[in-house]
Amino acid sequence: MAKRDYYDVLGVQRNASEADIKKAFRRLAMKYHPDRNPGDNEAEAKFKEAKLAYDVLTDAKKRSAYDQFGHAGVDGAGPGFGGFSGGAPGDFADIFGDVFGDIFGGRGGTRRSQRGVDLRYDLALTLEEAVAGKEVKIRLPTWVDCQFCNGSGAKPGTKPKTCPTCGGHGQVRMQQGFFSIQQTCPECRGSGTVIEEPCPHCRGRGRIQEEKTLSVKVPAGVDTGDRIRLAGEGERGEQGGPAGDLYVQIQVKEHPIFTREDANLYCQVPISFVIAALGGELEVPTLDGKVMLKIPPGTQTGKMFRVRNKGVKPVRGGVVGDLICRVLIETPVDLTERQKELLREFEVSVQEGGSRHNPQSHSWLDGVKSFFEKMGL
Ligand SMILES: [Zn+2]
Ligand SMILES: [Zn+2]
Repeated sequence: MAKRDYYDVLGVQRNASEADIKKAFRRLAMKYHPDRNPGDNEAEAKFKEAKLAYDVLTDAKKRSAYDQFGHAGVDGAGPGFGGFSGGAPGDFADIFGDVFGDIFGGRGGTRRSQRGVDLRYDLALTLEEAVAGKEVKIRLPTWVDCQFCNGSGAKPGTKPKTCPTCGGHGQVRMQQGFFSIQQTCPECRGSGTVIEEPCPHCRGRGRIQEEKTLSVKVPAGVDTGDRIRLAGEGERGEQGGPAGDLYVQIQVKEHPIFTREDANLYCQVPISFVIAALGGELEVPTLDGKVMLKIPPGTQTGKMFRVRNKGVKPVRGGVVGDLICRVLIETPVDLTERQKELLREFEVSVQEGGSRHNPQSHSWLDGVKSFFEKMGL
């Protein structure tokens, strides 16, 4: 059976919400429902196709599998064998009621050339790899025609037979109360053929899953959310249709030191209060080695220092970003008696100097004082 991309079938974006998907399906269902199009096989096929797409895309697990592996991800068994059950009445029932639940649930559709579905591959990179670029080998599952049965699923030397139950139509009519209803043939599950002796190699599926290795050139400067398109590496087309594309979705892992924002890198640098007060130089890391960072005397905590051109060169071009170091002044801990003594001595000396050594504390204290005065405290 020719299969179109489920998102295309419903006419929704790949990031569509469940509500959007429901809405889109309702619209199509109203248009193509067989009750409204009696005798119109094309409408019925469209209806079934939409139903199948709806079932997959409203099931979080199936949707995720479909996004990654295409139809192969949600259709474990190949055409004509087992088959993906599109006929689960559950979701359908809430729209049209139980009676119709399993009538239109079968497989069907016209055999037409269809472009294969686009697939997604999630690729995790370290920050260094994302910044420098890298050639990555990825392995992904792919379905190929079984060589033993040439994709028929029948044991070599035998052929799939026309289904005796439905005579090859894939559908059977049956009477249920007042209704004469058409139902997916339970014997062949809508394919119209049955395999009497399945091919032992593919167990009747006609296809076997293999792993293919692809080489992906990740350009320098990519960031989380960027996608690399590999044309023609998605799911293969049906009936001679072209293959879909593979989208490699980049996810940059957290870095122990740096965080990235666009082209800039950020890092926190703890310094002692002595260096902060006296000034000094310290070594800070960059993605390509170390640089010396000059700390001027009287540096306050939270101050940012910019190291030019030590950020990232954006993948879409533009100037190289900067490395921005934010200093954090660390309060010394676990002091010896001698060190405490020195600090007390130091504090006395600072107090003697008045407000000029601690301008922020003094202006804050002045503010608190006038606040209390206003309150009459
Ligand atoms: Zn086979
Ligand atoms: Zn049948």
